[in-house]
Amino acid sequence: MRRPLVAGNWKMNGSREAIDLLLDGLSGISTTAEVAVFPPYVYLPQVVSTLCGSGIDVGAQNVSEYQAGAYTGEVAADMLLDIGCRYVLVGHSERRSLFGEKDRQVAEKFVASQRSGLIPVLCVGETLEQRASGKTLAVIGAQLDAVLERAGLESVCNGVIAYEPVWAIGTGKTATAEQAQEIHREIRQQLGEPGMKTRILYGGSVKAANAAELFAQQDVDGALVGGASLDSGEFREICKKAYVAN
Ligand code: PEP
Repeated sequence: MRRPLVAGNWKMNGSREAIDLLLDGLSGISTTAEVAVFPPYVYLPQVVSTLCGSGIDVGAQNVSEYQAGAYTGEVAADMLLDIGCRYVLVGHSERRSLFGEKDRQVAEKFVASQRSGLIPVLCVGETLEQRASGKTLAVIGAQLDAVLERAGLESVCNGVIAYEPVWAIGTGKTATAEQAQEIHREIRQQLGEPGMKTRILYGGSVKAANAAELFAQQDVDGALVGGASLDSGEFREICKKAYVAN
């Protein structure tokens, strides 16, 4: 049985005050799913300390592939673990498209995260152009293969995968529940038997209004939520709709 995970990616938003308000709005959240929030780096200690004992986990939005040393501006996986993070996003499409992260680097980040004891959430997904030209499965397959080759099957299956079609991120366009299920099933098939335990999240304009339909799909084990996670009321509603299937 896979316990769903609802993960809120706050991206580069917030201030100490705004985050206090947002966290206030999440207190006493009611769901059988696991919940995690991913604030900007500088607010991680504030969020970890406020959420301590709440049952909500904390993750970082990025991590260095290096362990320590002369890498100005980078943050190591050990440091994230040290301050109380449980999860880390790797290969988010904004990191890939805006900051030039390649599959190989994403794979290194995945390995570095697991080596430190963090749970990486590996993001994969196709652009609209790739979908339109029938390349969706090849693109996702290659993104996954790069990490499989570097980390090995068992390690990948111990992480979390987030299928995030790039055309659905921050656009208000969501994949239909059927489109999401089709890709999630393919990803699970690529992982084979060990992938039966792997949580595969859907991400891309998830809101309270479309969450239930997505969560009802057999291979959708929760969501990676961007914009809607900045509204505590909306995020609470999404979390409520994720349930543990028998
Ligand atoms: C994301 O950033 O991972 C995301 C899915 O964003 P949004 O929900 O805003 O589309």
